[in-house]
Amino acid sequence: MAQKKSASTVQAFIHASQVYTGEGILLKEGRMIDSADVGTIPDGAVVFDSKKILWVGPTSELPLKYKSVKKTSLKNKQAIMPGLIDSHTHLVFAGSRAHEFARRCAGTTYQEIANEGGGILTTVKSTREASLETLFELALKRALISYRLGVRTIECKSGYGLDHQTELKCLEVVKHLKQALPQMTFISTYLGAHAIPTDQKKSQYLDEILHKTLPEVKKKGLAEFCDVFVDEGYFSLSEGERILRAAKKLGFKLKIHADEMGNTESARLAAKVEAHSADHLLKISDKGIQALAKADTVATLLPGTAFYLKAAYAPARKILDAGARVAIATDFNPGSCYSLNLPLMMNLSALQMGMNLGEIFAGVTYSAAASLGLETRKGTLLPGYDSDFVVLPYEHFEEMYYRMGW
Ligand SMILES: [Zn+2]
Repeated sequence: MAQKKSASTVQAFIHASQVYTGEGILLKEGRMIDSADVGTIPDGAVVFDSKKILWVGPTSELPLKYKSVKKTSLKNKQAIMPGLIDSHTHLVFAGSRAHEFARRCAGTTYQEIANEGGGILTTVKSTREASLETLFELALKRALISYRLGVRTIECKSGYGLDHQTELKCLEVVKHLKQALPQMTFISTYLGAHAIPTDQKKSQYLDEILHKTLPEVKKKGLAEFCDVFVDEGYFSLSEGERILRAAKKLGFKLKIHADEMGNTESARLAAKVEAHSADHLLKISDKGIQALAKADTVATLLPGTAFYLKAAYAPARKILDAGARVAIATDFNPGSCYSLNLPLMMNLSALQMGMNLGEIFAGVTYSAAASLGLETRKGTLLPGYDSDFVVLPYEHFEEMYYRMGW
């Protein structure tokens, strides 16, 4: 896949087999999408400079004023679409859990491994021990894998430190990634409330999050979002709400790991506190679905995690048909979805969750952008939006998720 050009001069791609603008999705704000909403322009052209899209339309209608700009012909063999957005990842951590995965496949449950001090605690130990440099090298390699798959914006959460110092260290890594890879957009999220550390009481850790880490993350400008894991055995609905309200007061945007292993009505909490997204939703209730349908909160579905844990998928059709906005992301993490392959998640969304072509397109473009507060700049390919698009190595968008796990 080619990437956007970095020269500051105006240039154009012409004779793209299709240019997918996503205009219909934008007009519907990501709700009740059908396949026509991807806004297909056959034999299309895109004029852009280093910052913004300047013109989009059929190659035959390229305005006179752009006739002399540098042009690259795609010979009607390659399509162009907005850069993909992976809106939910746990990119920063150290250590491997391959051995635990092998045990899990042989019959040991995720919970049994966690009870033995494995699972997330294995990753917390490795992440605490790792230097900033090591964590950065690991995260950089992972980001480049995403980039090669067409991802241009990636959300990265902390949450494997579970102490003040390590959480800050992980968010510092994202800051370094922003500098190292300016061709990608990194959105950082503080997820201190990912699990309960073993070396502190829950009440102590909550105090640390609320009174120490959150204010310092804000002061240092290390994260745009605050996320919490509300689930059985993790943080309760009221604890989650306490953290999110404190974060909102400080100016953070909000996300929730909601209704994943059990139904806690945390999707409804996400709508109530006006979170940008409620993520997972495997066990969302009908009331939760109704709440999201009425709210701007994006339902972020992570089918790779259901696949990896052999769990039932989120009720995507019910959520979509109720009128909610739906994003698709990888949930890349060392325990429950060790994959950075966003196109594979699109394949699972089609096959396992019954999503149509337009819904899948919206899930990795407009709606994913909305879940990160970026929908006025990214996720749509129209004049005035960021010069953030990908040239695909094939003629049609649907090839991207037809190719399973390529
Ligand atoms: Zn997650």
